[in-house]
Amino acid sequence: LPIFCLGASFDEMRLNLRSTKADLDYRIMQLSTLYEVGKAISSVLDFKKLQHIILETVVKVIKAEKGSLMLVDDTEKILTIGVAVGLSEEVARDTRLEIGKSVAGWVVDTRQPLFIKNVETDQAFLAIKKKNVRAGTLMCAPLMAKEKLLGALNVSRPEPDSFSDKDFELFINLANQAAIAIENARLYRYAVTDEMTRLYNHRYFQQRLDEELLRADRYDNHVSLLILDVDHFKKFNDTYGHPEGDRVLKTVARLIEKSVREVDISARYGGEEFVVICPEKNGEGSLVPAERIRSAVENFDFRIDGKPVPITVSLGVACYPDQARSKAELIQKADYALYFSKESGRNRATLYNPIMNR
Ligand code: GH3
Ligand code: MG
Ligand code: MG
Repeated sequence: LPIFCLGASFDEMRLNLRSTKADLDYRIMQLSTLYEVGKAISSVLDFKKLQHIILETVVKVIKAEKGSLMLVDDTEKILTIGVAVGLSEEVARDTRLEIGKSVAGWVVDTRQPLFIKNVETDQAFLAIKKKNVRAGTLMCAPLMAKEKLLGALNVSRPEPDSFSDKDFELFINLANQAAIAIENARLYRYAVTDEMTRLYNHRYFQQRLDEELLRADRYDNHVSLLILDVDHFKKFNDTYGHPEGDRVLKTVARLIEKSVREVDISARYGGEEFVVICPEKNGEGSLVPAERIRSAVENFDFRIDGKPVPITVSLGVACYPDQARSKAELIQKADYALYFSKESGRNRATLYNPIMNR
């Protein structure tokens, strides 16, 4: 689609050769912006980061005062703000629009972009139910990838009549590119995420560990690996049932996430086993987050029918390249350390040592 957009725009350019130089300058700016934005956002797969890049770019290019990127929920009934510029944190967090209501709700419902030159006089605008809109001008475009509805993009300025029709055209083109990037990121996220725990899945873990080991080689650095296994989980399932077991795994996943750095990669290894890749950390250093996870789980107040049910986990840690020379060996050594934790009483974290070889 981006290529198509550019092609169409070049054709228009030929037709408009008699346009003023200012028009042409604007058109060239538009095309190069679309190209640059397309390049920048097509390579970002981190969903939140992508939303920030899109919105910041759009607000900057359009020279808007405020902007927001809204996303539809899974039921396609409610819009919430993914990221915002110029809005208070509370508004950004608490805004919930029903589809069909308010400006973005109308845009998403009709799948038509909307350009309100002056909110005080525009008939279309006055006909739409809305709340908390101040004087000025605003543009809103639906975010659609193929037929899939993703959300809406909003920008505004406090001065009425200060966006031009060309701004609106550029804004729509930007929204189209943004939608494709968001959809790609969404599909990618789906492919690498474990549905139940929302951590990365096994496939992503393997791929990412390969990459981190290569990076460690290149920069002469360490990578550590934590493997975690829930203690006596079979008994837990047998006693309380599988659905309660699932609930525990979800909570353990959240506790792991909270206990590690942003750069660490947490994944579900399979079943009730989890892994964390800790880039640029040696074995001793990685015992710190391992211990943090262990104690977070031990101290979490798990309850079933109001009664406390303690859960513990055991962990093994190994470090590349100190203790392993390949990915398979690193996983094996961390697993030996985990086994050692289990054998020596569970609810503990152990760093690999050659005496643990089996
Ligand atoms: P240990 O302390 O030695 O790890 O004992 P354990 O009972 O945890 O070990 P074992 O490997 O024998 O059992 C793992 C259990 O985890 C078996 C299975 O029922 C449970 N399990 C694996 N995946 C899931 C899951 O997705 N949901 C639930 N609820 N249970 C799971
Ligand atoms: Mg297990
Ligand atoms: Mg277990």
